[in-house]
Amino acid sequence: MRTYEYRCRPNKQQEAQLMAVLIASRRLYNDALQELVEHYKATGKHLNLFEQDKRHGAKEHPDLPAVVVDTTLKRLHRSFANFFRGRKEGKRIGFPRFKSADAWNTMQFRDAANCLESSGGISRAEGTLPRGDCLPNGHGNYLKTPKLKTPKICGGRIRVNVHRPLDGVFKFARLVLRPSGWYVQCVTDYDGERLEPSDKAVGLDMGITYLVADSDGGFVRNPKSFRVSASKLAQAQKRLAKCRKGSHRRWKAKKQVARVHERVASQRKDKLHKVSRSYVNGYGTVAVEDLKPANMVRNHSLALSISDASWGLLRFFLAYKAESAGREFVAVPPHYTSQKCSHCKELVQKSLSVRTHICPYCGYVADRDTNAAQNILLAGTPPSLRDAEGLVKTSESSVPLKREAIGL
Ligand SMILES: [Zn+2]
Repeated sequence: MRTYEYRCRPNKQQEAQLMAVLIASRRLYNDALQELVEHYKATGKHLNLFEQDKRHGAKEHPDLPAVVVDTTLKRLHRSFANFFRGRKEGKRIGFPRFKSADAWNTMQFRDAANCLESSGGISRAEGTLPRGDCLPNGHGNYLKTPKLKTPKICGGRIRVNVHRPLDGVFKFARLVLRPSGWYVQCVTDYDGERLEPSDKAVGLDMGITYLVADSDGGFVRNPKSFRVSASKLAQAQKRLAKCRKGSHRRWKAKKQVARVHERVASQRKDKLHKVSRSYVNGYGTVAVEDLKPANMVRNHSLALSISDASWGLLRFFLAYKAESAGREFVAVPPHYTSQKCSHCKELVQKSLSVRTHICPYCGYVADRDTNAAQNILLAGTPPSLRDAEGLVKTSESSVPLKREAIGL
């Protein structure tokens, strides 16, 4: 499964129509939830999806496309199913909630009937065109102003900026409202390309000074844009805090904060996607520390919270990219990775401010984070793949990474 997200460019009228449908679908969700609760109170039984669906036809919801009624009810019942499953397995999954306007920004369309169509007349309804084969003239300037076919009530044909071709068989589409506007997400069954096997392995240490330090001595710096965005976010939040509650200015300031948040998040995601892609492409095995953010000391400074979120996301990106590419991803327990000497395994105590690892036992000198990354690599490599001294074979010369491009 892969999701492609494209920017929508609805006109004013379409925007109003989309908004109206979004609001109506939220009302439906909340009403249906209310209905389930009341039905349970009255009869002691859970109303199933099929029964509830019968109560919500076109007559009851003239303001909603049938497919949105359907998918919204399904969504509600899925959250109920999750809740009951959680109770059974002893997990804490909350009871479905009534949705506020802030918590409702998606409409789902079921099938490929609502999908992208190019202005050149090639419909991807079947979704079976192979990669790169959707260019009518073969030069990439297709789909400049394609339209998204949605039910008429949602504004009909909406302009979409298809900035990259879609791979795989098209499954379904979602319309998502973000602070910066409307987006269409196309979910396909594409799983990504398998990569040729590689016996190279790398350990990654995620830190604050650097986003990543790897066991081959490479570093990926935290990009400057993170810091710039962080100060912009602080500014916007300050403005918001000064506004009177319920005022128009506050509403505007709130929107501004949301925009900055979105921008920070997308910059971070962009960076992490590039970093994780380069490591998965360059190595057959990627080892990281098994950090559990919940166990880490909470610090409320913004810079830390950004790197905090980055670690989890980077790990997630590495894991799924490695899996779909047929490469190995290992999470190792984080014990003494920064204190141990990666050459002689002796413990070399050092405080956080000491940036260089100098081993008094064997004389090994390395950057603190590089040494940690080498320990992570060691812990993540099975003994069969280590050489006589217990070290992992790495070939530094043949690293195909473009490290300059990703951060230095
Ligand atoms: Zn040593």
